[in-house]
Amino acid sequence: MLLSIAVPVPFLDVLTYSVPDGMCVPPVGARVRVPVGPRVLTGCVVRHDAVVEDGWEVKPIADVLDREPFLPPSVVELCMWMAEYYAAGIGDALAVAMPPGAKEEKSAFKNQRVAVLAVPKGGSERTRPPTSKQAAALAILQDAPAGLTTTALRERGVTPAVLTALVRRGVIELRDERDERDPFARQGLRPPASDAARVLTDEQQRATEELFALADRAEFRVALLHGVTGSGKTEIYLRLADRVCRAGRQVLLMVPEIALTPSVAALFRRAFGDRVAIQHSALSAGERHDQWHRIRRGDIDVVVGTRSAVFAPLERLGLVIVDEEHDTSYKQEETPRYHGRDVAIVRASREGALVVLGSATPSMESYQNAVTGKYVRITLEKRVLDRPLAAVRVVNMRTEYADEGPDVVISRDLTTAIEQRLVRHEQVLILLNRRGYSTAIVCRQCGDTFECPNCSVSLTVHRARDAWRARCHYCNYSLSVPKACRKCAAPYLEHVGFGTERIEEELRSRFPSARVGRIDRDAIRRKGALTAVLSKFAAGELDVLVGTQMIAKGHDFPGVTLVGVISADVGLGIADFRASERTFQLLTQVAGRAGRGERTGEAVVQTLYPEHYSIQLACLQAYATFFEREIVYRRGMRYPPFFALVNGVVRGRTFADAMQDARDIVRRLEPAAATNSFTVLGPAPAPLGRLRGEHRVQFLLKGTRRAEMRRALMQVIAEMPEVRRRLTIDIDPLSVL
Ligand code: ADP
Ligand code: ZN
Repeated sequence: MLLSIAVPVPFLDVLTYSVPDGMCVPPVGARVRVPVGPRVLTGCVVRHDAVVEDGWEVKPIADVLDREPFLPPSVVELCMWMAEYYAAGIGDALAVAMPPGAKEEKSAFKNQRVAVLAVPKGGSERTRPPTSKQAAALAILQDAPAGLTTTALRERGVTPAVLTALVRRGVIELRDERDERDPFARQGLRPPASDAARVLTDEQQRATEELFALADRAEFRVALLHGVTGSGKTEIYLRLADRVCRAGRQVLLMVPEIALTPSVAALFRRAFGDRVAIQHSALSAGERHDQWHRIRRGDIDVVVGTRSAVFAPLERLGLVIVDEEHDTSYKQEETPRYHGRDVAIVRASREGALVVLGSATPSMESYQNAVTGKYVRITLEKRVLDRPLAAVRVVNMRTEYADEGPDVVISRDLTTAIEQRLVRHEQVLILLNRRGYSTAIVCRQCGDTFECPNCSVSLTVHRARDAWRARCHYCNYSLSVPKACRKCAAPYLEHVGFGTERIEEELRSRFPSARVGRIDRDAIRRKGALTAVLSKFAAGELDVLVGTQMIAKGHDFPGVTLVGVISADVGLGIADFRASERTFQLLTQVAGRAGRGERTGEAVVQTLYPEHYSIQLACLQAYATFFEREIVYRRGMRYPPFFALVNGVVRGRTFADAMQDARDIVRRLEPAAATNSFTVLGPAPAPLGRLRGEHRVQFLLKGTRRAEMRRALMQVIAEMPEVRRRLTIDIDPLSVL
């Protein structure tokens, strides 16, 4: 018998191995040890029907680690689909679905004992038949491929004596496993005060009933829950999840970044208790391992997690909720470059589950699918309790500069608004989607700037105690900024542009009584720092919170009555076809953080381009109008959702090398492009022309039939294996930079 095995080696396709005589055949999803070159690796069985050409030598499997599937076969198939769709290696794809420690033969996490069925070794004789108690224990373990703890077994009537007897017979093994580590306990997530008897608003009620009806049909369907910020989507998720669990099926709730929105996870924890598991990359390997095995054992009803949770080993999936479905963090920007929302939809379609995509600012793709009727559209137009949306005012910074000079960072209007909030003891969020102190340092005498030696960007300046450090945000190269220019020795170094650190400093000096906190990737580097700042703000121990887009995501801070946006146009200068969509989403979302409590909210948006449609329509929170305008541009420019894109980036030691390879690929693609009617754009230097010391050249495929584009590209690449390693393929890229 020949098996297809996936091993965790980049770019490798599945490998074929034989099952030696006397060894039991491992099922799809089981882990096996197989020789790969000089090494023995842990792989996963993905197919049973492998065939090889005559004369090929097939090596035997060295060892079988699981008699039952370690990964559910449905998840194995999902990974196979993903590997193909996203042009990734099957090994890389499966690695995303595996829990930490899966490579070790024995679990690396020690403490508690877990009983699992032993893999029969060929030839071993078993004399007496098992007693009825032993048979009952074996039946329980048959249904628990990842094993059960001895405690859990005792709860089901299996005594230690029975286990010992089974171990002696060689039919089960006891493995050490650590006590369940509970990430909720560590994060100190305290669920908000109880409001179980809450009455739904009419809109919530209608939406809930419609979703119940869909869920009760227990078949695949996608619903887009388009609800303005503060319309109470979470409450709907909770009731729907409860409904599905009661029907005996499981729920997957996907969120962009758990650390940023711990309240949703905490609400689910409160509603479902320890039947909730949590899955995200910020957990320790041990925690992730424990949570994964709890899910695998079927001990849970609800998984809350970030994008990789889409591979959670659930076997009775009935509902997938993708909260803030437009969020870019669902897309993995390294191999396999999958989109968690899109994989979730594919998974649900295979497993007959309902998908609910929730957002106040749906992606162009999802909304278009709702418009055409492919998705069911459910709309919440009002905030709960008839709370008004924040009133948004635009401040034209050109006027401000003309009146107040070129160094203004916080306008007069915003200053007054902040002062009012401080007097009234209300809270303020300030958004600037650019971190660091300043964007560059320039010598006023000779014009010298600090560029990264490895990447084609200028270094961002950060404050480091009393000194300055210039750092590359791509490769992390950094140097300490000297007092005088390196080139001409003039002492006239000047900061250009500003980031969140500068705003924080400005706020502290302008409002000395205000308690100011900051959230951006630099501020939260230390473990626990993010949770600390967020809970201080939630507890009212901070007056002003300044930060990057992190502060715009899904937070529900009822004390916030003012949102200030420093430079609304930061993202508009970027030459990406999604720049307007991103700007609209960010501004709408951040404005949506104001006035979620009893007091009404207000937003002040500073910009140099007050007439830009994405800024104007975000200020009016007019999603439908924005969509109608943007969709015309997408259709005209042949961009998604009408056309699919495949982005290819070739890396090389020199620009000429990279260009040469890219030209080669594009030339070989042209015949297929002509017959299959897709277009190839480029090659051209990538917008980020150099990254981590490598030169980058880009080409783009555009067409309506993704499969054809992918097939053509893969055929070309198959003929150039050396180039394959220097080529990054991004199917459905979120950004083409
Ligand atoms: P969204 O995710 O749609 O922006 P949330 O789910 O965070 O909104 O809800 C906004 C606020 O309204 C939360 O504080 C929530 O507790 C509250 N809320 C939700 N539903 C109701 C309701 N029916 N009655 C009163 N308050 C509600
Ligand atoms: Zn760099």
